[in-house]
Amino acid sequence: MQGLLKLLKKEPALPSLAAYDPVIRQIDDPDHVVIPLEYPGRVRYLPIVETGDTVRKGQVIGKSRVGNSVIASISGKVKDITTVWTAQSVHSPAIVIENDGGEPLAPEEIFDTNVRQGDLESAMDRMRSAGVAPPWTLSGREWEEEGELADLPPVNTVIITGVRQETTILTSQLLLEQQSKKVAKGLKQIAAFIPGARICLTAPEHLRSWAEPIFNDLAELVFLRDNYTARIEREVIATLIGHRIPNRESYRYHGITVLDVEYLLAMVDALDGVAALTQKCITISGTTIDKAVTVRFPLGSSLAHVLASQGLKASDFTRPVVGGPMMGFAQYSDQAPLTYNNGIYLIADDVNPFDTIAPCINCGRCARVCPVNIQVHLVNRMIEFGQLESARTLHPEACHECGLCAHVCPAERPIVQLLHFCNHDMIHGERFTWAAGGDS
Ligand code: SF4
Ligand code: SF4
Repeated sequence: MQGLLKLLKKEPALPSLAAYDPVIRQIDDPDHVVIPLEYPGRVRYLPIVETGDTVRKGQVIGKSRVGNSVIASISGKVKDITTVWTAQSVHSPAIVIENDGGEPLAPEEIFDTNVRQGDLESAMDRMRSAGVAPPWTLSGREWEEEGELADLPPVNTVIITGVRQETTILTSQLLLEQQSKKVAKGLKQIAAFIPGARICLTAPEHLRSWAEPIFNDLAELVFLRDNYTARIEREVIATLIGHRIPNRESYRYHGITVLDVEYLLAMVDALDGVAALTQKCITISGTTIDKAVTVRFPLGSSLAHVLASQGLKASDFTRPVVGGPMMGFAQYSDQAPLTYNNGIYLIADDVNPFDTIAPCINCGRCARVCPVNIQVHLVNRMIEFGQLESARTLHPEACHECGLCAHVCPAERPIVQLLHFCNHDMIHGERFTWAAGGDS
C-alpha cells in the first residue's frame, strides 16, 4: 500500500542546488581533532606518536606500510589513541589531539629533502611526508597483501576530477575556478612524471568557454552536465576508456589513477615545499539551506564544529548526511570526525529510515534508471529471499552503488543495501558463514 500510494506521486527529482556562495570560508581550529587511521579499502596507518606527546601542525603522526603519512592538523598534545566511529560509517583507530595553540611546523621543518628535477622517487618521498598519497604509483588497497604492490600495472591514464559526481558538492569546481594557475601547474608536473600517459580533466559544462583556453593544451577536457546521472564517476570513466570497471575493483589495477583537483593542488604544494595536507574543503547544503556554503576545515574536526562555524546544529535536522545525498552516510553523532569528506547534506524532512521493508510493487522504476542495466527489482527479491546463487546470474556486481534506484523507488526499499550485502558475500562469503552458524 505504501508503495502504491507513493507511485501516484511524481517521480522524485534528483537533489540539486538552487544557489551557492562561491567564497570558500576558512573556519577556525577546533579545541581538538580526531584523526582516523584506517580508510577501508584504501589505506591503514600505524601511529608513530604516543599518548602525552606534544605534536605540531604539519608533523607526521602515522605511517602506512608503504610510507604514506597522516599529519597533525593542529598543534597540541596527543590526548588519546583510541577507536572511533568515523563519518564513513566504520570503526577506526584514531589519534586525538587537544589544541594547545602552539605554532605549526615551518615548511623547512616538514620538508627536509629536495625534489630532484624529474625524479619520481624523490617526488614521492616529498608527497608522502606532506600527507599526500602519490597518485601515480599507489592508491587502492595498498596494505592488504604484500604481493599487491609489485602487481600494479604502470599508470597509462590520469583523470583529474574538477567536478564532483554529487551535484550538491562544489569543492572541486570552486577550487578549479579559483586556483586555475596552480591546477595548470599540477597538470604539467604530472605530465613530466609520467610522460606518454593520457591526462584528462573533468569540468562542469557551464565552464566550457572559460576552461578551454586555460587547459586545452594540458589535458583532454571532459565537460559534464549539472546532473547526477551524467556525473557518476564510474560511468564517466567507462566512456573515456571504453569499458566499465566494477565497483569493487580499484581503477589502479587497470592502469588508471583518479585524482580530485583538491589533491592535485595539495600535490603542487608538497612538491613546491609550501605546505602539508592539513585542511580540506567541504560543501554544506540541504533541503532547507537556501544557499550552499563551502568551508575549509582542519582534518579531524567534528561535524558539530564544522556546522557550528556556519551557525548550524545537527539536532535541528532529521538527518545529517556526510557525502552527497545520493551516496553519503547518515550520521548518528555530531562528534563524527570529518577528514577526506566533500559534502554535508542536511535533511530537514521528517523521514523515518527504520520502516519495515515495504514489498516491491514491480513498477520498474529502479530498472529504468540503472546506468548499468541491472534488473534491480528481480535481483533484490532474490537477495531478500536468500536466493543468492540465482541473484548472481543477474550480475549484481556491476552495481556502482550510485543510489539512483533507491532514490526513485516509491516503496522506499533498501535496494542499495541489499545489493551491497550480496556483493560483499560474493567477495568475502561472510553471509554464508553466518547462515551456517560459523564463527567468523
Ligand atoms: S545503485 Fe541501483 S541504479 Fe545504481 S548501479 Fe546499483 S542497481 Fe543500478
Ligand atoms: S524495487 Fe523497483 S520495481 Fe520494486 S517498487 Fe521499488 S522501484 Fe518499483
